[in-house]
Amino acid sequence: MDSTTVKNLLKLQEIDLEIQSTTEKLQSLPTKIENLEKSKEEETYKLENLKHRVKELEFAKKEKELDIQDLQERIKKVEKALEKVKTNEEYKNLLREKARAEESIMEIEDEIINLMEEIENLKNQIPQLEIEINRKVQEIDYQINQLQEEEKNLQQRLEQLKSNREELVKNLKPQDYQQYENIKKRVKSKVIAIVQDSTCSGCYMIIPPKIFSELLKTDKMLTCPNCGRYLYYENR
Ligand SMILES: [Zn+2]
Repeated sequence: MDSTTVKNLLKLQEIDLEIQSTTEKLQSLPTKIENLEKSKEEETYKLENLKHRVKELEFAKKEKELDIQDLQERIKKVEKALEKVKTNEEYKNLLREKARAEESIMEIEDEIINLMEEIENLKNQIPQLEIEINRKVQEIDYQINQLQEEEKNLQQRLEQLKSNREELVKNLKPQDYQQYENIKKRVKSKVIAIVQDSTCSGCYMIIPPKIFSELLKTDKMLTCPNCGRYLYYENR
């Protein structure tokens, strides 16, 4: 194998490795973007939740106000009944009922005050929360943009690599390319292993002396007897 072929095969390997890493990066991007979209939704939910809680409390307050109205009606009826009371027992009972209703009203009024405080407190949080959420959403949008930009660049790079590869393959003898592809299918990573200290850098096996000395002399591309990768010795 002549040195041009060796150079071309090394170049092919370099391209293939970059195609592999570029593809992996590209495949990881959609999930990253999806996760960011989700956290953006979560941010906006925070505000919705707070507003929803305010509505709930306002509704509870309204219910309590209606309860007070009912009790006031009840007191009016008791007062009317008191005017027509006949027995002492009846009188005492009505007074007791009136006192109970008045007591309930006071309790409910306290509850309403608590609710109003809570509503006020939550409403006061809204502007600050809106600012925070807007800031976070902007941040997330920026990150999403960056990733989309990266995606575009990686896709362009991938197209470029693929067309470079096509050009390169045209310059290779079909049988050399075919062997390269066969090894690649088997080893799934680097096809060409650099030989260092008479060791195959693909499988870390020491190359038998006979093959190693041949490697030093020949122009041929030899393969590792253990992993089958092309062996490349630089200082030939
Ligand atoms: Zn090997």
